[in-house]
Amino acid sequence: MTNNKGLYLHIPFCAKKCAYCDFYSVAIDTDLAELYINEVCKEFSLVMDRNPAALIDTLYIGGGTPSILPINLLERVIEHMYKNAYVDLKEFSIEVNPCSSSRLADYKSLGVNRVSIGVQSLDDKVLRIAGRLHNRAQALDALERAENLFQNVSADIMLGLPGQDIGGIKETLGGVIPHVKHISMYMLKLSDGVPMAESAARHEIALPDDDLTADMYDAGYSLMHHHGYERYEISNFAQPGYSCMHNLKYWNREDYIGLGPAAHSFIDGVRYDNPADIKEYLKGKHLGNQLANIARLTPGDALFEYIMLKLRLEEGFAVEEINGLFHIDFFKDYQKQLQPIQALVDLSDGRVRMKKDKMLLESLAARSFL
Ligand code: SF4
Repeated sequence: MTNNKGLYLHIPFCAKKCAYCDFYSVAIDTDLAELYINEVCKEFSLVMDRNPAALIDTLYIGGGTPSILPINLLERVIEHMYKNAYVDLKEFSIEVNPCSSSRLADYKSLGVNRVSIGVQSLDDKVLRIAGRLHNRAQALDALERAENLFQNVSADIMLGLPGQDIGGIKETLGGVIPHVKHISMYMLKLSDGVPMAESAARHEIALPDDDLTADMYDAGYSLMHHHGYERYEISNFAQPGYSCMHNLKYWNREDYIGLGPAAHSFIDGVRYDNPADIKEYLKGKHLGNQLANIARLTPGDALFEYIMLKLRLEEGFAVEEINGLFHIDFFKDYQKQLQPIQALVDLSDGRVRMKKDKMLLESLAARSFL
């Protein structure tokens, strides 16, 4: 068994909440940020005390908005990690908001080798309705400056925002593609209670319907494919060699440690969730103190999770691998589950994968194995 682990650090601060977002974050406050980073260092040390042989090989700083964290605090937490663990980073990513993208050179000095810019759209009207603080010009400026400093730049794009259409998606991707090696193109999923869901319920805004959103996805897929990006996961597209190593650990069910409120960890087959509450976190309610919520998976849960995560990947999974991991004869034991989804999955070359044009139906296919 390998001791390699990914490390995710959640920075739960944002300048302002976007209209569609339900990620855990609070308003930035310098004193709070200082207390927070101190607690993250404690959590990290405690987790590493229990995993002394772990080798951290990917680091992903996400949020929230990591780029609004004062640079001295970021320096402090990274130094602490190097002092308290074996760290040999193959990939070090940070999420950057175009509005707070002035510290790109500092990130490079700290060892960051991949930046992910939260573009979402290059249409100012769409950005305004989404409650984003940046505009098209700021996003393009951030992309250009990132591209000049880093070889590995990624952009996040959203699909399904009010006011978006196929032409708009192509225009956004056309503006982003010259600057990046990787694009995450996410479909909007609105949770109950977020402002955009409430505005839509009051008919103040109109959301594109599912068919139009799927057409936008297909148009985006074709354009990226034409420009040499390969889809390796439903929402993730990369030039050859630029898939996100850290995020691949999630879909491949490899170990990762998540620090901070609302962060998830997966260690030796057990899932942990830190409570989504910074006040509780600062009181020590986290994985470091063994106070995270724990989900021990039954073999059946683990098998379902494996299928659900692996089918998100373009390459799906090898039957030999699932048979070995779960001591099953997949084709024989799961004939009944495979029958109704034959039109969705491709069973060639000893692998199970979604058909290329059926990728968006992945969760439907996976549910057959529940
Ligand atoms: S900046 Fe990101 S994390 Fe913060 S509210 Fe907007 S979408 Fe959510």
